[in-house]
Amino acid sequence: MTEAIAPELCDVLVIGGGPAGSTAATLLARRGYCVVMLEKEHHPRFHIGESLLPCNLPLLRDLGVLPQVKEIGVFKPGAEFVSDGGEGRVAFPFRWAIGARETHAYQVRRSEFDEILFRNAAAHGVSTREGIRVTEARFPPGQRADILAVDGQKRVCRFAPRFVLDGSGRDGFLSHRFHERRANKHNSTAAIFTHFRHVERRESGMEGYISIHLVEDGWFWMIPLRDDVMSVGFVGDRKAFREHAGPRTDLFWKKVAESPSVSRRLANATQLNPLSTTGNYSYRADRNWGAGYYMIGDAYAFLDPVFSSGVLLAMRSAYRGARVASAWLHSAEAGRRTARREERRTKAEMRRVAWMIYGINDPDQRKLLLNPRNFLRMRDGVISLLAGDFGGRWIVQLPLAAFRLVLRTMRRRRTRATG
Ligand SMILES: Cc1cc2nc3c(=O)[nH]c(=O)nc-3n(C[C@H](O)[C@H](O)[C@H](O)COP(=O)(O)OP(=O)(O)OC[C@H]3O[C@@H](n4cnc5c(N)ncnc54)[C@H](O)[C@@H]3O)c2cc1C
Repeated sequence: MTEAIAPELCDVLVIGGGPAGSTAATLLARRGYCVVMLEKEHHPRFHIGESLLPCNLPLLRDLGVLPQVKEIGVFKPGAEFVSDGGEGRVAFPFRWAIGARETHAYQVRRSEFDEILFRNAAAHGVSTREGIRVTEARFPPGQRADILAVDGQKRVCRFAPRFVLDGSGRDGFLSHRFHERRANKHNSTAAIFTHFRHVERRESGMEGYISIHLVEDGWFWMIPLRDDVMSVGFVGDRKAFREHAGPRTDLFWKKVAESPSVSRRLANATQLNPLSTTGNYSYRADRNWGAGYYMIGDAYAFLDPVFSSGVLLAMRSAYRGARVASAWLHSAEAGRRTARREERRTKAEMRRVAWMIYGINDPDQRKLLLNPRNFLRMRDGVISLLAGDFGGRWIVQLPLAAFRLVLRTMRRRRTRATG
């Protein structure tokens, strides 16, 4: 029956109007393509992922939204790691990043941030639609794709784009249909989070820092937002969740109580919303493209929030997705070549930060992070990663290689000592 619905033609259809979708759509519209972007919700809508990185700034500037983001954001000059184990607090200011061009970032309510990007796409000529969910996708060989979507009145709409970019986030619309999506067993398991008011803030000069409190079997984030709001979340490893029998939300408060540094900061806090949870959050699809489509942002893969890398990786992969779409619209052969190259780049970029992320609960890595030494610029290399410098510049990679060498030596020594 849906065959009877006349399809709307376009060059590129973008599924999802989050940071990845809006970025790619804007870039393609700027190149003169006819782009339709479908978002199942209505902006502004809540989303987790509020801490941005300095390397986001050139992208936001290029898209023309930096002044608006500055307006809604909290100035973030660095990140601090906090230990309950005696090391105290260690600050990593972004100005120490190697060859830093941007020395700060912003922390934002994602409802506001995502809406800015989405409306910006519309201002660049993207046909943006909200409250419309993509439900089916077919890619008949040698023809336009066939995309079905349902709007708020349960009306079925049909689109026939020449290329599709999937920016559907954790829903992973195409990866669930055409690929195998694997959860990452090396990484933490789930997050429990909400917003508070009147959380103890840091002193002047540090008030915009994100705090990462390293606790047993996991870590907490504290992200300062405007109006005295603090986003607080606990991320736990498998052990933390396995050993807790009750509801996940109880685990949040158990972990708060176990951590003197977190409980002190939350002592006078007012909880603003119920706790939310996200499980199985680290994953990757076996591939990020197929004939006629390319997946961008979380729709392809998600690492972990500890280095606040999600939005940056999503936006950078959107730039790649736009390149793939342009090439595909030129010829399928050029599209395939570009997709292969860009997929390799995305994987390499993720690899460059993944090892550090997966080691966040490792005692030796924690010791190194909490007692940073700048021998061979190892500390500054870590700060470069914290700033989002995943591009593979040797000047950053060499100090990080030294850091990994020291880490391996520490691990070997510990394994020998414990027999
Ligand atoms: C606990 C946690 C904490 C995090 N903290 C941070 C952080 O501090 N900093 C950071 O940078 N990142 C963080 N992230 C990651 C960040 O949230 C994501 O990486 C980022 O939002 C990815 O952007 P995206 O555009 O790919 O996906 P999304 O932002 O999820 O956007 C996808 C959009 O697609 C829409 N959609 C989905 N399915 C359909 C469909 N079928 N039809 C139409 N529309 C659809 C959705 O409604 C959504 O608006 C965190 C993630 C988690 C889980």
